[in-house]
Amino acid sequence: MNLTDYNEIRSLLSRHGFRFSKSLGQNFLTAAWVPARIAESAGLDADTGVLEVGPGVGCLTEQLSLRAGKVLAVELDKALKPVLAETLAVRENVELLFGDVLKQDLPRLVEEKLPGLRPAVCANLPYNVTTPLLTAFLEAGCFETVTVMIQREVARRICAPANTADYGAFGLFVQWHCETELLFDVPPSCFVPQPKVTSSVIRLTRRREKPFPVRDEALLFRCIRAAFNQRRKTLANALSAGIGGLGKDQAEEILANCGFDPRIRGEAVDLAGFVRIADAISEKALRKT
Ligand code: SAM
Repeated sequence: MNLTDYNEIRSLLSRHGFRFSKSLGQNFLTAAWVPARIAESAGLDADTGVLEVGPGVGCLTEQLSLRAGKVLAVELDKALKPVLAETLAVRENVELLFGDVLKQDLPRLVEEKLPGLRPAVCANLPYNVTTPLLTAFLEAGCFETVTVMIQREVARRICAPANTADYGAFGLFVQWHCETELLFDVPPSCFVPQPKVTSSVIRLTRRREKPFPVRDEALLFRCIRAAFNQRRKTLANALSAGIGGLGKDQAEEILANCGFDPRIRGEAVDLAGFVRIADAISEKALRKT
């Protein structure tokens, strides 16, 4: 069966009485080149164990199983159980798990289901939960690469450098943990039903070491969140509003000591700059105590 053929998918799904759910982000691929290129981009081999979120009818799962040692595909919609039993019957290195991937203990799941393999994530993600899913993959700390299709707008934010409109707190969080690459775009016409927006495939490669040493990682992310929560304010104002006990004058002094114009905005500061600022705030707090 061709798992990206529009007519075959329609008849397969209607045979099983399946209805698409918008709330589960169900937009299935109907262009053969897309799952093949996503799987190819994930850099898999026989030693890789892949976690796939949301196999749908299994078109990407099939491509992953041809390249990886094992695929663990987690699907929330139990209505797809009989469909996947049919489409993936011959795929011996695929294990299906029905449940919410956001409720899984990911490091434990990887240990139990993908033992001895190099763990990676590869998926066409349900777009309504992109941010919590990516956060969970990075916080799990066990995946070497995460190759996913997401909304283009979110992909651009994740890969954005400083001084661009897309630059923000979530991108900095991802860039702190991973090298980011924007790989290619996929138009709405490649899906059924068609989403309203263009999609992009990104690859995140976990850093073996953090990009810069930092005294207090939690404080670094408090500074970053404060800076972008109040995007239109100067960074000094945003930091004094977001970091308890830090006055505006102190914030301006810290920025000047770090080599920044005290009127600078957060969007002009790169990751290295935020590290310098967080270290200076941490030092100042230590001196006080
Ligand atoms: N992989 C298929 C493809 O590319 O055609 C389907 C991708 S579709 C964008 C997203 C899939 O994720 C759907 O099958 C949906 O049911 C599933 N899904 C949504 N939320 C989920 C969750 N929290 N955990 C696991 N699967 C989920």
